[in-house]
Amino acid sequence: MTQFHPKITPIYQTSVFTFEDLNELEAYFEQPGNQYMYSRFGNPNTDELAAEVNKLEGGAGAVVTSSGMSAILVAVLTYCQAGDHVLCAEEIYGGSASLLSQELTRIGIAVTFVPGDELYNLGNYVQDNTKLLLAETISNPLLQVLDIQKLAIETKRAGIKLVVDNTFASPIITKPLALGADMVMHSVTKYLSGHSDVTAGVVVCREEEDLKRAKQVVMTFGVNLSPFESWLGARGLKTLKLRMRQHSQGALEIARFLEQHPKVEQVWYPGLEQHPQHELAKVQGNGLYGGMLSFRIADDLETVNTFMQALQHIPFAPSLAGVTTSISHPLRTSHRSFSPEKLQKLNITLGVIRLSVGIEDGEELLADLEQALERV
Ligand SMILES: *Cc1c(COP(=O)(O)O)cnc(C)c1O
Repeated sequence: MTQFHPKITPIYQTSVFTFEDLNELEAYFEQPGNQYMYSRFGNPNTDELAAEVNKLEGGAGAVVTSSGMSAILVAVLTYCQAGDHVLCAEEIYGGSASLLSQELTRIGIAVTFVPGDELYNLGNYVQDNTKLLLAETISNPLLQVLDIQKLAIETKRAGIKLVVDNTFASPIITKPLALGADMVMHSVTKYLSGHSDVTAGVVVCREEEDLKRAKQVVMTFGVNLSPFESWLGARGLKTLKLRMRQHSQGALEIARFLEQHPKVEQVWYPGLEQHPQHELAKVQGNGLYGGMLSFRIADDLETVNTFMQALQHIPFAPSLAGVTTSISHPLRTSHRSFSPEKLQKLNITLGVIRLSVGIEDGEELLADLEQALERV
């Protein structure tokens, strides 16, 4: 066949690769990096996406997964087996909390949730069988910023691994491995792919040994990503830096607008001076604070529905990090599985709206928010 020279990697939409004979097969097993065999074990597109994310996060290597949820599963199964115990930050994506408290407990991996203000002092929580702490760089949904360096010192002292969900920050804002984390995972569905058209995840390891184990889990549990989704992810990644700058700029503008609006009771955005971890966010985030913010209007169903209906350009879509702006409602979507007591403790009330700021011109967004707030 003619040799073509495509500028970017084509989509290898194939489940399997052929071999000339047993010699070629043996060569694959001796040096798996040079050839492919079966797409569940590896494919040029999945490898490309993994390599590009790894470059950004500065790890020993990465493996891509079918979703952010399976990335968390792989992270936990890399370090844990039945009889082990994990720690998890209390304020975390609802799906992560459910995976740990409802599913992994059933196969013998216990979990304890640690309140945000006790994360730097794990003494009361660590048991002999504790293997890791899972926490988010910037938490979902109320944007608490964690000091990764401090957490890494504490987990090292406690003899456990630090696994960071870096989905909200992205490596443009924070690179947890450089700050001492052992493993970073992402919902690639969000900023890394960035266009609301992919469901994917990634696990990035600092140690070669962990990477080997993570790859094994992906292969044997079959939570690999498809070539096409990998290709879309790699495509999105190319503009990550530009997008994060624009998301951050837009979000700061909107946060400042909401902060002074009489109908808005509270705004959570790390870029605001009044945010409790603003100084940390400034240093840890290279001056960027990301595109996510949350704010509270009246804790009243009618008010929330009226606000959602009144928005003309900003849809209610229970996800985040796309190039177009959207709102979500943590209480009724991402954090639906939390008990009423936990929701109240975390301050996630009915009036809390989570805003994912896209890359549009700020003026149109501000005008839309303004007119919708006028209606409530
Ligand atoms: C969305 C999300 C996940 C889960 O990712 P999926 O791609 O939906 O499986 C995990 N962590 C965070 C912080 C998220 O926002």
